[in-house]
Amino acid sequence: MRIGLGYDIHRLVRGRTLYLGGIAVPWHKGELGHSDGDVLLHAVIDALLGAAAMGDIGAHFPSTDPRYKDMPSSELLVKTLEIIRNLGYTIVNLDGTIILEKPKLLSFVPEIRANIARMLGIDVSAVSIKCKTKEGLESTGREQAVEAHVAVLMD
Ligand SMILES: [Zn+2]
Repeated sequence: MRIGLGYDIHRLVRGRTLYLGGIAVPWHKGELGHSDGDVLLHAVIDALLGAAAMGDIGAHFPSTDPRYKDMPSSELLVKTLEIIRNLGYTIVNLDGTIILEKPKLLSFVPEIRANIARMLGIDVSAVSIKCKTKEGLESTGREQAVEAHVAVLMD
């Protein structure tokens, strides 16, 4: 068994789409980033690479590489899964936390869980997504950023 931890944070700016787990959440601000900025999928990718001791998202998909500009993070996840599967690992379960002050995400959680489960090829019962605010504290609490933490277990 191998455990991996992923963390990511992106600035929230007007004129960008808020992507979380491959789902576009209606909001007037979205993640600033070289790719689509999906903070949750980036944390998933880092957790998977971490569990395999294969570096991190920046090493595999550098933001200086024009190939990854505005690329859907789901495509980066597909490439990451190829790395994991080539090493012979299977994913057991995933537990994630999104930290976002607004909007409320509870109604989007089933769709986010289902989409991540589909992408990872595991049952939705093996995918947990939780949502927190930062109680108005720090940049994320001031609605200037969104964060995600993810833990994965692989066999
Ligand atoms: Zn990121």
